[in-house]
Amino acid sequence: MRQKADEDKGDHFSLTREETRMRRLFLFSMAVAALSFGLVVNLDPRAIAQQSAPGAGKTYVQAGTLIAVPGEPAQTRKTIIIENGRISAIRDGFVEERGGAVIDLRAKTVLPGLIDSHVHLLNETGPSQRLDVVTKSEADFAVEGYANALKNLRAGFTTVADLGAGNGDDAIFAIRDSIRAGKLIGPRILAAGSTVTPTGGHGDIQGYRDDVMEVLGRASTCNGADDCRRAVREQVRAGADVIKITATGGVLSNIAAGTEQQFFDDELVAIVETARQLGRKVTAHAHGVTGVNAALRAGVASIEHGTFLDAESIRLFKEKGAVLVPTVLAGRFVENEAKTGTWMTPAQRAKALDVGPRMLDMLRRAKAGGVTIAFGTDTGVSKHGDNAQEFGLWIEAGFTPPEALRAATIGAATHLGIAAETGSISVGKAADIIAVDGDPLRDVGVLLDVDFVMARGVVAKE
Ligand SMILES: [Zn+2]
Repeated sequence: MRQKADEDKGDHFSLTREETRMRRLFLFSMAVAALSFGLVVNLDPRAIAQQSAPGAGKTYVQAGTLIAVPGEPAQTRKTIIIENGRISAIRDGFVEERGGAVIDLRAKTVLPGLIDSHVHLLNETGPSQRLDVVTKSEADFAVEGYANALKNLRAGFTTVADLGAGNGDDAIFAIRDSIRAGKLIGPRILAAGSTVTPTGGHGDIQGYRDDVMEVLGRASTCNGADDCRRAVREQVRAGADVIKITATGGVLSNIAAGTEQQFFDDELVAIVETARQLGRKVTAHAHGVTGVNAALRAGVASIEHGTFLDAESIRLFKEKGAVLVPTVLAGRFVENEAKTGTWMTPAQRAKALDVGPRMLDMLRRAKAGGVTIAFGTDTGVSKHGDNAQEFGLWIEAGFTPPEALRAATIGAATHLGIAAETGSISVGKAADIIAVDGDPLRDVGVLLDVDFVMARGVVAKE
C-alpha cells in the first residue's frame, strides 16, 4: 500500500493548472459551508439557554456501586461528572444540575472501561482467512476492522492494542486515527502496524505460490540486524505506536517450523535498540522457551503468550521488569478448532494441539512466580466481542476476580503506557466507563454481559 501512496502523489503532480484551481475552489466552498453550518448550530437559542445553566455541557453518571480503581474497595451511591469527555469530579450521592445530562446507573455496578492488550481488529480466524489475504482489498479490511472495533467496544473494551495488522497496516492506522480524532466512535486503539518477522517466520506469508508471496511480501519482514533496524524504522515511520515482533514460531502460520526461537539474538537486540531510539517499546510474540528467554534478555517490554516459559523466564521477567500478556483464550480457541473444526492446515493443527492445552498452566506458573501480568486475549483468533471470556480462564488459573479486573484496567493501562489517560475512574482521566449487573468482584462472569459503555465521554451502548 505504501507503493500505492507514492503513485497517488504522482497523480497530484500531473494535475493541470485548471484542475488545481477548480479543486481549490471546491475545497474553499466546502470550508465556507462547514463554517456557516457551525455558526447556525451555535446561534440556536436552545443551545444558548443550555449554556447558561450550571450543568450545561456536563454529564452526570449516577452509580449505585462504583469500582473506581480496581483493587481498591468498591463504593456505593456516587456520581461521576463528565465534561468534554473527561472526568471532572466524583461526588457522594446522586447529583445532577439543571442543563446537564443524567445517566441513571443506580441499579448497576460501574467500573472503568476494560483494556485488551492484544487484539487483531482486521480479521477473525476461520475457514476463509487464507483466501481473504488474496481477495480482500485494504478498503475491505478497513471496513471490517472498524466493524470489529465496535464489537470490542460494545463488549466493554474501551481500549485495545492491535498487535499485527497483516497486510492492512494502512487500514488499522486510519481506523485508529479517525477514532482518536473523534470522527468515528470506537475504542482507543494502539496499533503496531505489521509484525516485524524473519522470512519464513510466524509473521511472514506462507504456503502460497511464489509469485503470490512476492506480491504479498511486507516491508516488516527482515533478516540480519541491519535489515531489522530498517524494518523497525519503517514501522515507526508508517505510524506504529508499539513494535510487535515474532520471536518464535506460532500456531496459525502455515509452516511446520515449530514454536521455538526464530530471530537471532543480535537481531533481537538491534530491534529493541532501534525501537528505543525512536521512543517505542517492543512486544514479542513468543511460545517456545528459547525465544521467550532470548527476547527477555534482549530487553523487550513484554511477551505475548509465553506458553513454554520456565523458571529462568520468570527470573528474567522480574529482573527486566517485563510484562506477560497470556492470551489463554486464544489457546483454548485453537485447541477446540483443531479438535472439532475442519479448516486448519496440518501444520496449524499440530501446533494448536501442542500449544493450546499448555497455556492455562503457563498462566498459573507465571502468577505463582510473581510475574507482572496484563490482560490480553489475541481476539481475532477468537471472535471479536468474546474478549471477556478470558476472565473465566484467569480464575481457573488461580486469579481472584479483583486481581483479574485490575489486570484488565489499571494494570493493562500501565503496561501500555496510558495510565494517565485511562484504566481507572479518576478525576482528570478520560471518561471510559462501563456498567454491569451484579458484582464483578465476586463473579467475573457478569463481565460477559456489559450493559452500558461510554468511551471518552461518548455513550456507545446503553
Ligand atoms: Zn496475536
